[in-house]
Amino acid sequence: MNLVDIQQAAGLSKPIRHQLFIDGKFVDAESGETLATLNPHDNSTIAEVALAGKADVDKAVAAAQRAFPKWSRLAAADRGRILLRLADLIEANGEELARLESLDTGHPIRDSRNLDVPRTAACFRYFGGMADKFQGETIPVEAGFLNYTLREPVGVVGQVVPWNFPLMFTSWKMAPALAAGNTIVMKPAEITPLSSLRIAELMAEAGLPDGVVNMVPGLGSVAGQYIAEHMDIAKVAFTGSTATGRRVIQASAGNLKKVQLELGGKGANIVFEDANLVAAVNGSAWAIFHNQGQACIAGSRLILHEKIADAFLEKFIPLAKSVRLGNPLDASTEMGPLTSALHRERVLSYVDVARAQGGEVLAGGKSPGGDLANGCYVEPTIVRAASYLDRVAQEEVFGPFVTVLTFKTDEEALQIANGTDYGLGSGLWTANLQRAHKFARELHAGMVWINSYKRVNPGSPFGGVGQSGYGREMGFDAMREYTQVKSVWVNVDAQIPPHFAR
Ligand code: NAP
Ligand code: MG
Repeated sequence: MNLVDIQQAAGLSKPIRHQLFIDGKFVDAESGETLATLNPHDNSTIAEVALAGKADVDKAVAAAQRAFPKWSRLAAADRGRILLRLADLIEANGEELARLESLDTGHPIRDSRNLDVPRTAACFRYFGGMADKFQGETIPVEAGFLNYTLREPVGVVGQVVPWNFPLMFTSWKMAPALAAGNTIVMKPAEITPLSSLRIAELMAEAGLPDGVVNMVPGLGSVAGQYIAEHMDIAKVAFTGSTATGRRVIQASAGNLKKVQLELGGKGANIVFEDANLVAAVNGSAWAIFHNQGQACIAGSRLILHEKIADAFLEKFIPLAKSVRLGNPLDASTEMGPLTSALHRERVLSYVDVARAQGGEVLAGGKSPGGDLANGCYVEPTIVRAASYLDRVAQEEVFGPFVTVLTFKTDEEALQIANGTDYGLGSGLWTANLQRAHKFARELHAGMVWINSYKRVNPGSPFGGVGQSGYGREMGFDAMREYTQVKSVWVNVDAQIPPHFAR
């Protein structure tokens, strides 16, 4: 089959956008280079996408600079209205976007339809409404003076996103930046550029002026690195691994650009002896197996009270073994492939890492055969580790791979939970209100879910502490990240400074 046939067979009615989006137009890369993007279900090529180099990033930054004065001075409500229109267009094109996302990333279509697309629309809608509600303050200073603050956009913002939720992260990054009046150069992940390019097209349709958003799919080591270095980019917002985050900070030093980092995690998911076991078992499966575990907030450390560990695992192991793996485009599929073959190998390598330190594989630990043998699939994997200091309890695996640890006392549970360098998402299951709030206070994490896991909402701040990065997406906090404060002093009573009175 040729590429168009492959795309049509996947239920796509529109041709896939496969060029860079710069200054409101789809264009080839200056070098003419392209990179194939694959369907992780069978590793077939679905599109050849233009690959941005430094010259393309320069063009994109120049377009964003030209667009900035007008966009930043547009009435906030008018910026918001464009984002609201975009949210409507995302919903109107929801099925197409869901298929595109599933095809490129391997997300089960039921998740793309019911989670990725609605959450993307909701995020643009939330910040569309936010645009004219985010305001400065007046400060009570000394008599005779008025002091007020302006929240000004920072300028051209570089945004670099990973491959695990490409559609949703496009909205998390772009919506607050645009609402606040910034212009954007975004680099999607090299293996999942398609849904972001389609969003760029819908943005143009929603009336976003040329140059306000520019998409430069390309390699992280080239286009991503250059965005982080670029002297005309005022801020870089990055989501990805902690190692790359560190590189972004170093690259940003040239012009002291603002940096915002959403990095890895090793989520603690604690189940106490008094928890509702059915809820905890199901919630813990969601915490680790949703999106094949490719989530920075995944509940990848399952920390069980000794008393209920056996009863919990008696339910949890069969549940894991019963998860339906299959073609992401099949509506009954519960877990799709990992997003790349390279990543599948990395995830599977942790099975050996676990065994080498005395870990016990309780479920999975391999790729399924049969029809799925050509894809990037990994079975839901449960590993019991001997110590919370073992590598599988410390390092982010980023797959359907959960490490089980047990504890005897609340103190021990907290020591294990806080015993990593990361601090992103965390959760706990208990009927004890006092304990729940105590842990919410004590957990070293940016987010805590009580009797739940992995909830997100555009209004609720999202981000981490420690090696999980800094800065917050979502809510008013995101608007603060994408603006800088200017303090304005007005001498209302026309006072003359006394110091050098003549
Ligand atoms: P990654 O290698 O750090 O890549 C993330 C993005 O950065 C990609 O677009 C990548 O480009 C680009 N990049 C690579 N090298 C770069 C450089 N030197 N300068 C600038 N950009 C560069 O991460 P990943 O493995 O793709 O993604 C998984 C990681 O992201 C996990 O650790 C996960 O926890 C983290 N994550 C965090 C959050 C959060 O909100 N905290 C959310 C999702 C994922 P290429 O595509 O070309 O590699
Ligand atoms: Mg792909």
